[in-house]
Amino acid sequence: MPVNLKATHLVDGALDALLPSHCLLCGARGQGALSLCAACEADMPRNTMCCARCALPLESPARLCGRCIKREPPWDAVWVPFRYEWPLAQLESRFKFGGDLAAGRTLSMLWLATPRPEALPQAIVPVPLHRSRLRGRGYNQALELAKPPAKHFDIRLLHEALRRNRATGAQTELTAVQRRRNVRGAFETNFDGAVPEHVAVLDDVFTTGATLAECVRVLKRAGVQRVDVWALARAPARG
Ligand SMILES: [Zn+2]
Ligand SMILES: [Zn+2]
Repeated sequence: MPVNLKATHLVDGALDALLPSHCLLCGARGQGALSLCAACEADMPRNTMCCARCALPLESPARLCGRCIKREPPWDAVWVPFRYEWPLAQLESRFKFGGDLAAGRTLSMLWLATPRPEALPQAIVPVPLHRSRLRGRGYNQALELAKPPAKHFDIRLLHEALRRNRATGAQTELTAVQRRRNVRGAFETNFDGAVPEHVAVLDDVFTTGATLAECVRVLKRAGVQRVDVWALARAPARG
């Protein structure tokens, strides 16, 4: 008798939802649908003391970091609730490089449990991957992370609104000026219909900010009035 694979799969999925989850980091009992134990959840590095404009973690309380005092970033608001440090970085690299989508879902749940921004955008635009990178990884981690907040806040997810028309390579070894040059012209907009007034461009990790800044500039040039930057975690400053 042929086995109905589809039905079996559905039953497995339903059982998964009923069974208690386990912590993805230490294997202890999870908390309901969250696959993290309370201790590992408490270890997540929250980005509470940070620059109001670029979310850079600060050593002492201040409104802005030195870089934002010198040069204002092009976005209007920023929401980056975590620092890119252990143990969050471990989940993020499993999600990004190990194909672990359960780690991605856990990161989304952590993100959505943080205080929400004052003003919500009309649409979320994930930072696109170049198609060569997308082919290698099989999914865009920014798009995967954008799905839960779009659903949670009931806002549109415009995953085609930005396109990366050339691969840019790693940015971390470049100086600030080189990084800006490296991403210039790398993106183009593609709005199907009316351009929204207020969008949030979303990435997994805010590293140098050069890629996000270029996305913001391109969206504004296309007529978006307000562009916020949303990222899960902020890496410390480099260069
Ligand atoms: Zn744990
Ligand atoms: Zn700053």
